[in-house]
Amino acid sequence: MVTVVDCPTCGRKTEFAASNRWRPFCSERCKLIDLGAWATEQYSIPAQDQEPDDGGDPPPARPPRND
Ligand SMILES: [Zn+2]
Repeated sequence: MVTVVDCPTCGRKTEFAASNRWRPFCSERCKLIDLGAWATEQYSIPAQDQEPDDGGDPPPARPPRND
């Protein structure tokens, strides 16, 4: 009995078996495409030099003026 799954990249039916070294992908190409997407866009972490608009440290308070 062989489990057949949809390739996450191209959607083709592919065997999820030990004989398929690229499982759950249908091919090396699809696996690399998915890894590339993971590394570059879909799960990219936000830049660390963003301005702290919300949830971050508050901006420095102005000293009160005495005039
Ligand atoms: Zn594929």
